[in-house]
Parts: sequence; structure tokens; C-alpha cells
Amino acid sequence: MRNKVAIIIGGSITGCLIAEAISEVFEKVLILEKEQFENFKKDRKNVPQEKHVHVLLNKGEQLIEEIFPKLMDDLKRGGANYIDMGIDIDWFQFGSWKKKISKMGLYTHFFSRKLLDNCVKKRILNNSKIEIISNSSFDSYLYEKRNNSICVAGVKIYLNDNEKVLYSDLVIDASGYGSKTDKLLKLKGLGTTVKEEIITNLGYVSRLYKRDKNTPNKNETTVVWSKPPKEKAIGLIIPVENDQWLVSVGGWHNNFPDKKVSDFLKFTKDSIPVKQFYDRIKNYQPISDVYRFKLKGGIWKHYEKLEKFPDGLLVTGSALCAPNPFYGQGITLSAIQANIIKSNIEEWTLEKQNTAHIQSLFTRSINTSWNMAKIEDLRFSETVGNRNIIIKLIQWYGKKFSKVSSLTYFARKIQLEIIHLNKSFYWMFHPIILFQMIVNHKKI
Ligand SMILES: Cc1cc2nc3c(=O)[nH]c(=O)nc-3n(C[C@H](O)[C@H](O)[C@H](O)COP(=O)(O)OP(=O)(O)OC[C@H]3O[C@@H](n4cnc5c(N)ncnc54)[C@H](O)[C@@H]3O)c2cc1C
Repeated sequence: MRNKVAIIIGGSITGCLIAEAISEVFEKVLILEKEQFENFKKDRKNVPQEKHVHVLLNKGEQLIEEIFPKLMDDLKRGGANYIDMGIDIDWFQFGSWKKKISKMGLYTHFFSRKLLDNCVKKRILNNSKIEIISNSSFDSYLYEKRNNSICVAGVKIYLNDNEKVLYSDLVIDASGYGSKTDKLLKLKGLGTTVKEEIITNLGYVSRLYKRDKNTPNKNETTVVWSKPPKEKAIGLIIPVENDQWLVSVGGWHNNFPDKKVSDFLKFTKDSIPVKQFYDRIKNYQPISDVYRFKLKGGIWKHYEKLEKFPDGLLVTGSALCAPNPFYGQGITLSAIQANIIKSNIEEWTLEKQNTAHIQSLFTRSINTSWNMAKIEDLRFSETVGNRNIIIKLIQWYGKKFSKVSSLTYFARKIQLEIIHLNKSFYWMFHPIILFQMIVNHKKI
């Protein structure tokens, strides 16, 4: 049985979810983390996105709790806000505000990315089968030949600048955006990984503000999506722990402000298409600098297509696929992958399947999220990509559907459930929605 040691590269959200998920099966799980894992306060240099709004989809919440039961209770104790999506969120999309709907029965939690990762890390530190090696930097894979094919048999790392070799049964890359697995596999002669990119040159710029203790609705959330293709900005105001508002603005195709406070405020005033956004924050008391994150766009490395994908290796999280973060899917994809690994890893340790099989199982869920993001990103004329008739039809229909969701309870609920990956996207073609579109055709 190959169940002695599993190594995970990266101790952020994906690495932690997977470590916990496989810890029942392996005798020991080692997490290699470039930074100090037990850092609960300071900024993480390698996870700069933690400064920006992170929304956790309902599907992600459910799947994370399958790995860490009642994790949302830890988050609530840490100050996370429990949001009623029907009444707490002011949501502007395609030129209109969605009607407030009480008792819709859809809820979510808002918190900072830091709080989520801290709660997860605390659970990891309580798992005696998981060992953390902080300040260790993964360098390369060790390979060996089994049954005439090349397999991964461990890693070479740098620990406080000293080279070290670690052998293992399984290695999982969860090292995020900077993963170099594709380059290393190519160097080993295992082939070129096909990369799919949707280039949108996007940026997020964020700042924290103090929330007044007497604020009428401490869960008040504002979500503004511009009207593509001309308008390219988004704006989000969410309540996070410690009585703070986290404000993120940004946009597609270089349409985002600089880190200067004046630029940030000017953007919220001039580029966010509703006056209420700037009016809401103009009198808030800022309590942080302005942070910016720039990204070329979404990227998906298709390891499932690599014929010589070595057994003993898995690539996960942002190291595998990082869709446009505006759609808030990244962590949910990590949670889906962690659950897929959990369901299949025992079979693998019994040598009944290889890791290429598990790697290929990630594809279906990524496809759904990737295509949802792609269809939206292709609304902008600057986005390069094939706009075939099906994509154009879905864009046309999707816009009408979003507009009906501003008017009716049913469409609104379905739209949120699709976004939160609770329902398949085919639900937008439900006969009731078609009927509502016909009835409201003059308004949409
Ligand atoms: C601006 C922005 C906003 C986002 N908003 C959302 C959102 O609303 N909802 C959502 O679900 N997702 C969102 N995402 C995506 C989300 O941040 C990622 O999906 C998530 O961080 C992926 O986690 P990860 O563990 O795979 O990688 P990361 O969180 O990037 O972590 C990688 C880890 O690997 C470590 N590491 C790197 N290299 C090495 C090495 N050589 N050796 C050892 N360790 C190493 C790093 O130190 C780090 O701890 C957003 C992303 C961005 C950029």
C-alpha cells in the first residue's frame, strides 16, 4: 500500500483542505509552506489577494464543511457576518437594481480571506497526522521508474536555504498562481501542458473602512456590475469581521485605479455606474492603505490532456486553474477538488488507479465555472476568444435572464443559486422564467 507519506506544496486554502481530506488515509501528511504557516496576523507575501474581497459560494461553503465540520461556526465566532441574500444585498446589474426580497431563504457569510484561512489553519494545527514545514521552498520533483513509466517519488526543497530531499508516496501541488509544475514536467521530457487563457487585464483595488457601531444595517452589502461591453467596472462593499467594511473596486481591460487614494476615490465616483456607491463610502473612516492586485486574466493548465502525466502527482487549486476572480469561484473549485481527492485516494493507495485518473476528474467542475466566466468575459470586445453562435445566444439570453431577475422572486432565486453553483446553469431555461421573460418583454 502506498499510504505512508503525502506531501502538499503550499499551505494556503487548497493545501489545507486537501491535507485534512487525505489525513485519514495517509500515515503522515507534510505541508511545505514557503512562509511561516503559523502567521495569523501579518500580511502573507505570497497570498497578496487576501487584501481583496473574497466571496465564498454556497457550494464551497457546503464542501468545506464536509472536510472541516462546522467551520462556519468558527468563522462566526471570529466575526463573520451572516447575510440574507434577499434583503442585505443591494445588487446592481445590467443597468438596474434588483428588487429586495424577504424570506428568500438564501444566505451567505462575509469575512476577510485572512479570517477564513486562519480558521482553517487552526484546524490543521489540531490534526496530529499533519506536519507543517514552514519557510520551506519547493524546488523540483524527484522521479523514479515504475512499470516502465516515470512517477513522482518526492521533492527537493530549500529549508532556510539548505537543500533537502523528501521522499513520499504522493505529491500534491497547491502552490497557487506561481506553480512551476508545467515547466518541470516539460524539463523532464513529459510533454507540454496545454494552457488556456482568457486575457482580460483585470485589476482589483481595495481598502478597509471602519463600520460605525450605530450603522442601521451592519450587513449592508453593495454589489455593482457595470453594463458590458462599454462599462467595465465592478464595485463591492461587504461587511467583514471587527466592524469593518471591505471595499473592492476594479474592472476589465486595464479599467481600474492606481493605488493612490485620490485615484481610488475618483474611480469609485466616476467609473462605478451608480452614485450610491461613492455616496456610501465617502464619509467612511478609512483604516488601511489602498491595495492593488493586477492579473492577466483566467488561466487553466490542462494536465488532464498530458499523455505522460506522472503517477504520484496531482495539481490543484490556482496551480491548476485560476478563473477570473470577479466570479468568486476559486475557493469553491479547491473545495470540489479536495472532495474528489477524498473520495478517490484510498483506491489510489491500493494501486487500483493512477493519479492521472483523479486529475481528470477535476475537469468537469472546472469546465462549468470556466465557461460561465468565459461567456461573461467575452462580452467585452477586447477579450480575445471564439464567439460562436451558441456563446452569443447564451450571452443574449443571460442578459435577459439577469434583467428578469431584477423583477421577479423566482428568477432572482434561480440566478443566485446558479451563481452559487447550487443549481446547474440549465435552470435559467426553466419554463417559469421563459414565461416571465415573455410577460416582461417590454421591461427587459
Ligand atoms: C484579487 C482576487 C480576488 C479573489 N476573489 C475570490 C473570491 O471572491 N472567491 C473565491 O473563491 N476566490 C477568489 N479568488 C481566488 C482565490 O484567491 C484562489 O482561488 C485561492 O487563493 C487559491 O488557493 P491556493 O491555495 O490554490 O493558492 P494560494 O492561496 O495562492 O496559496 C499558495 C500557497 O503556496 C505557497 N507556495 C507558493 N510557492 C511555494 C513553494 N515553491 N514552496 C512552498 N510553498 C509555496 C504560498 O506561500 C501560498 O501559501 C480571488 C483571487 C484574486 C487574485
